[in-house]
Amino acid sequence: MSEPDVSDLLTVAQAIAILDAADVSPRVVEVPLQHADGLVLAQDVRADRDYPPFDRSLMDGYAVRTADTANVPVELEVVGEIPAGASAASSFASGQTIAIMTGAPLPEGADGVVPVEDVERLSPSSRYAGERAGERGARLAESSDVRSSNTPRPSPQPSPRSTGEREQARIRVLRASAPGRFIARRGSDVRAGELILSKGTRLGPAQLAALATVGASSIRAFARPQVAVLSTGNEIVPFNQNPTGPQIRNSNSLMLVALLKRLGCDVTDLGTVRDEPNAVRDAIQNALAFDLLFVTGGMSMGAYDFVPRTLAELGADLRITKLRIKPGKPFVFASIGTHYAFGLPGNPVSAFVCTVRLASRLIARLSGEAPREKWIHASLSEALPANGPREFYQPVFCRDGVAQPLKWKGSADVFTLAAANGLLARAENEPALPAGAPVRVWEV
Ligand code: AMP
Ligand code: MG
Repeated sequence: MSEPDVSDLLTVAQAIAILDAADVSPRVVEVPLQHADGLVLAQDVRADRDYPPFDRSLMDGYAVRTADTANVPVELEVVGEIPAGASAASSFASGQTIAIMTGAPLPEGADGVVPVEDVERLSPSSRYAGERAGERGARLAESSDVRSSNTPRPSPQPSPRSTGEREQARIRVLRASAPGRFIARRGSDVRAGELILSKGTRLGPAQLAALATVGASSIRAFARPQVAVLSTGNEIVPFNQNPTGPQIRNSNSLMLVALLKRLGCDVTDLGTVRDEPNAVRDAIQNALAFDLLFVTGGMSMGAYDFVPRTLAELGADLRITKLRIKPGKPFVFASIGTHYAFGLPGNPVSAFVCTVRLASRLIARLSGEAPREKWIHASLSEALPANGPREFYQPVFCRDGVAQPLKWKGSADVFTLAAANGLLARAENEPALPAGAPVRVWEV
């Protein structure tokens, strides 16, 4: 394959170094926790108390002095009950037990929990055993009542609300318990003051659960980057219009809006401008209200490629123009004051590759995060020819660690891209690869 000389173009590695050196100062905002999904923490968060906050039962069962269960089977008298949410002020004597529910605090003196599966409930009733959630509310009020074994005989049908006498219940423990069994000790997950999430962490469902647990009802987070997307090209019509003659539908804008939202940006679609210097200039100038602009099309050296020229006229510092990457060679990265602009080739596969592989790094940093590389390792399903002089990102489909290359039909072929779940990275001038060769794939 013969390609024009690319030796004077920057490599992908050089481009990454330039992107990572660009100054960013993401804004910090105070956000109620219910609006924090997907944001990046701008503060460290510490535990407000021990977790669990008290010694807690891990099972529905019976709190015991484990010494009492040394010789099983053994009968114990059930002298009370602790549902979750009840306090465990009371204690119990040797030979006794207290029914306890998952998540409830352990009563004093207990050093083990025997799960319900390991006991047999004995007559006269199962007053403390097997009662269901619906009854718990009524019992909550009496939760710290732990009755002594001399409780008078109750009426045959005790009301759950009765606070007086209660029928005496007994269980037979069938399996010995051991100290600490089915108990989560106070502070065994985290200690009060311990760091639970650090600045720079992207918040998702699990992180929100951790923050909710420690009562971080509002947090300081980095504001989402404000990003604008602009398409250029006389031939481009909105995707919901019928193109005529040489016109083509705009696929880049929708693709980039979706991609940039997934990368954590607040995105505004500025539509399409014609390949006219004044129109391009006005559109770019307006877009400087945003932190970051993505322009597609008009990036090359053709007579109608006005974008790099216009950026330069507006005083931009063109830090990258053209790269040794395939697809995506006419890639532009520029700064204008505190704003940044990416100029992407008009072909959708090029725009996609440049965004996920390169622009995503700056977006991560604008979001308050460290850039993340999304490599997975796979083995090649079939042999590939030697690569050319540009770092090549070829659409592949990966399954079970095997990367199946999809036939490369060029940078306009969104259909192959749409069938891919990864981009196979080939180094500049990499020799031919045999089937089974280990390869790196960027997950998309
Ligand atoms: P350009 O970078 O302007 O030379 O465009 C390269 C190719 O990408 C041309 O075939 C364009 O028609 C096409 N193209 C440019 N912009 C878009 C767009 N927004 N959506 C789909 N294709 C585009
Ligand atoms: Mg064009």
